[in-house]
Amino acid sequence: MRVDAPSSLPELRQLLKAALSAPGKSRLLAGGTDLLVRLHASPELSADLIDLSGVDELKGITIRDTFLEIGACTTFSEMERHPVIRERCAALARAASLVGSPQIRNLGTIGGNLANASPAADSLPPLCALDATILAENSEGEEMTLPAGELATVPGKTCLRQDQYIRAVRIPLHRNTFSFFVKTGSRKAVAISKLSLSLAFRRTDAQARIFAGSLGASGVRMRAAEEALERRDWTAQNRAAFLDALSASVEENIPGRASLPFKRLAVRGLGDDLWTAVKEAISGE
Ligand SMILES: Cc1cc2nc3c(=O)[nH]c(=O)nc-3n(C[C@H](O)[C@H](O)[C@H](O)COP(=O)(O)OP(=O)(O)OC[C@H]3O[C@@H](n4cnc5c(N)ncnc54)[C@H](O)[C@@H]3O)c2cc1C
Repeated sequence: MRVDAPSSLPELRQLLKAALSAPGKSRLLAGGTDLLVRLHASPELSADLIDLSGVDELKGITIRDTFLEIGACTTFSEMERHPVIRERCAALARAASLVGSPQIRNLGTIGGNLANASPAADSLPPLCALDATILAENSEGEEMTLPAGELATVPGKTCLRQDQYIRAVRIPLHRNTFSFFVKTGSRKAVAISKLSLSLAFRRTDAQARIFAGSLGASGVRMRAAEEALERRDWTAQNRAAFLDALSASVEENIPGRASLPFKRLAVRGLGDDLWTAVKEAISGE
């Protein structure tokens, strides 16, 4: 196995260009918490690695005019602690704080989480709720932006070509947005999500965005439940309509799946937490 360790974006692009001559042989390595586990479990996948850990341009969190830019190699620990993410993108900070264990949060990156394209990836649903975009680049330095929910095509696969990499994630900053994340998982699996819900609620025009994780390759939008919240009606009747809408969306998205009975019920418990959080944040104003 060959391991290259570029120390800048130009060096990374050169390596990606060279890798085009042997399609499928090279893989990008960020924190290694998915990739190294996979290579260890299936040695036949042996690959040359391009280690991103020395590329400083892929690290860090920057506030630009109207959006926050998170470098692809930013770790969950960095996101969970960042004051602007905690204040303005609370769903993402909370999702980051609930990933695996402290060791995984110190190594695992947002770029690796998205590129791995697992339906259980915890960063994707909050990013979808917050209307984030992904900035990708190819070996020529040509940029491409796409909505976060369009990166994964099927579980385990993204739309990125062989010489493309995720450079950063961009989240628009709206002052009046309340956001929240809840998940349920099994303790045996260090809390890898069985189901999650992410919400962003814009106070100015009562616009809600709710996405579920672990229902498909991309975050699944729950439009009927959003409409119930947008009514700003905190009665028991509307709460029941909200929870019924969540269950109905689960049924629509995983019909016949063995996990349906659990998820149809579990989504109501998560929905209850979400309802209480948004009600307290919005109705008390
Ligand atoms: C014990 C354990 C618990 C876990 N718990 C959770 C959890 O609770 N929630 C959760 O969401 N995940 C969890 N994970 C999964 C994993 O930690 C995350 O998905 C993590 O974000 C992966 O990031 P990484 O930097 O380690 O990626 P790597 O393993 O380095 O890479 C993963 C994939 O992404 C590709 N890649 C990496 N960076 C880029 C880039 N910039 N551009 C393009 N492709 C790239 C790699 O080639 C590889 O295919 C857990 C894993 C373990 C082992």
